Amino acid sequence: MEQKFINSGYKIVSFDNIADIYIINTCTVTNMSDRKSRQMLRRAKQLNPTALIVAVGCYAQVGKKELEQIPEIDLILGNNEKIDIVKYVEEYIQNNSRKTDITDVMKQINFLDFGTVTHSEKTRAVIKIQDGCDRFCSYCIIPYARGRVRSREPQSIVEEVKSIAKKGIKEIVITGIHIASYGKDFKDDIGLIDILEELNKIDRIERIRLGSLEPSIITEQFVGRLKKLDKICNHFHLSLQSACNETLKRMNRKYTIEEFKNCVNLLRENYEEVALTADVIVGFPGETEEEFKITYENLKQIDFYKMHIFKYSKRKGTKAAEMPNQISGEIHEERSKILLKLSNENQTEINKKYIGKYVNVLFEEDDGKYFKGHTTNYIMVKIPKEEVKENLENVIKKAKIVNMENEDLIGTIE
Ligand code: SF4
Repeated sequence: MEQKFINSGYKIVSFDNIADIYIINTCTVTNMSDRKSRQMLRRAKQLNPTALIVAVGCYAQVGKKELEQIPEIDLILGNNEKIDIVKYVEEYIQNNSRKTDITDVMKQINFLDFGTVTHSEKTRAVIKIQDGCDRFCSYCIIPYARGRVRSREPQSIVEEVKSIAKKGIKEIVITGIHIASYGKDFKDDIGLIDILEELNKIDRIERIRLGSLEPSIITEQFVGRLKKLDKICNHFHLSLQSACNETLKRMNRKYTIEEFKNCVNLLRENYEEVALTADVIVGFPGETEEEFKITYENLKQIDFYKMHIFKYSKRKGTKAAEMPNQISGEIHEERSKILLKLSNENQTEINKKYIGKYVNVLFEEDDGKYFKGHTTNYIMVKIPKEEVKENLENVIKKAKIVNMENEDLIGTIE
C-alpha cells in the first residue's frame, strides 16, 4: 500500500508524525489485536484532528459494524480494497462523506497481486506467495478475514525474486497465510515444491527460507524433492499448536501427534543439523492437566530448537470461543512458563554444541558493537566489530564459534 501511495506522488511519514492521511492496517487475530487497532485509529485522530483516518485490513473486514461506531474513522476498507487504496482515498477526498467499502472476501477467487514491490530490506526479503486459508481451525478467525486459498501466479513470484536478486538481497522468506496450500486453487497440478524449484534456479539468491509450514505437507515425496534444492535453509518452522491428540481434535487440526513425529523424523533424516521450531498454544478450552502433561512429554521428546508459546486467547466469532471449560489466565500463565523453560533449555543445549564449530553466517546488521547474522538453520551469531576490518553487512562468511554470552553465540572470522 505504501508503494502505491509513493507511485501516486504521496510522501510517507512515520506514524508519530503529523500527516494528512493515516492508513491503519488493522489486525484481528485476537481480541487484543482488535483493541490495539481501535487505539491506533483514535490516536491518529488525536495526532491530527483534521486528518483523514482510514481503517483497512482484517479487523475492518470482519468487524466493520464495531468500527462504524467509532466517530474518529472516516473510511473503512476491507482486504480486497487494499489493492485500490489510493483510488478509495481520493474518491473520499472528492466526496467527503463517511464511507465503508468492503466486498465479501469469501467470494474472492484470485490472488490480489500487488506485483513486484520495492523492498527496503538489505539482506532478507519476505515474499508473499498466497493468501487465505481453508482449514478453519476452531480457534482461528483468519479464514473469515482473509477468505479461501488463493495462490499467486508462479511467473509473478519469479519476477519479484529476480528483481530482489538484482538489488543484491541474498535471502528470501516464502510466506503466506498457509503456504502448504499453495497451488490448491490452480487448475494445473502446481504446488509449493514446484515454485520452490523455480526459485532455487535464480542466480544471486543464496538462501530460501520457508515460513510457517503445516506438517501435513512434509511427505517423503515432498522432502525427496526439497532436499535436492541447495538453497533451502535447514530450518523449518512447524505450526504444531498442541502435542496432544485430544486437544488437536478440538482445535480441528488435521493431524495426530504420531503423524507429526513422522514429519520430524523425515526432516531429521534428510537435513544435517536441521533446526526445528514450532508454535504451541497453551490453555486451549478443555485442556486438562492430563492433556497438558501429554503435550509436555511429547514436546520434550521431539526436542525442538525453540518454541513460540502462545497463551490461548478467546477470539469471538470462532468455535473455540463458545467451547465449555475455558481455562483461567493463571493456568495459561503457569503452562506457558513451563513450556518456555523447556524451550530455553533446548536452545541453550543446542547452541552450546556449536562452540568450536565453523558455521556460515549471512550478516544482516551492524549494531555498533557487533556484526549480527544468522546461520542457515537460523542460529544467531555475533562477531565483535573490533575484530574485523571489513564491513560484513550482507556478506556470507565462515565464522568460528568461540563463546556463548547469555543466549548469543560469539564468533570470529579467521
Ligand atoms: S491453518 Fe492457520 S490460518 Fe488456517 S485456520 Fe488454522 S491457524 Fe488459522
